Amino acid sequence: MTRELAKKIKLRKYQKEYYKSHKNDYRRRIYKWRSENPEKVILIRKRFRLKARRKALSKIGNGKIECSNCGCNIYEYLEINHKKLLLKSSMRRDRGDSFMRRIIADKKRGEKYEITCRICNSLHYLIERYPNIKNNHKILWEQI
Ligand SMILES: [Zn+2]
Repeated sequence: MTRELAKKIKLRKYQKEYYKSHKNDYRRRIYKWRSENPEKVILIRKRFRLKARRKALSKIGNGKIECSNCGCNIYEYLEINHKKLLLKSSMRRDRGDSFMRRIIADKKRGEKYEITCRICNSLHYLIERYPNIKNNHKILWEQI
């Protein structure tokens, strides 16, 4: 072990112990900072959300962030599609920050979903809902 690394580990240990013994002070300072800097808090949370979304998409697509049906790769158009249609109430639960975090944390969750663009997601929904239209529509992605 180099001296540098030993120093780092020692510092880290000290910081951990400091945090443990000053937990309340530390929390109070954080709350104070948050109440004094609301616009910064919004920015940080937004950045965190965007990062989580990108991470979740990347996990579902195995590193490839594009529509699994037509290949559209415009990030803003992409959505997480439930391969199997759920009840409306469950669909409502499966969105937002906590949904992204659940996808990132859970190993199996990725298999239940796929990345689709908004258009393919709508078609998927219609086909699940009205199976007799299955071969009537096809979506093509052309970059102009
Ligand atoms: Zn698509």
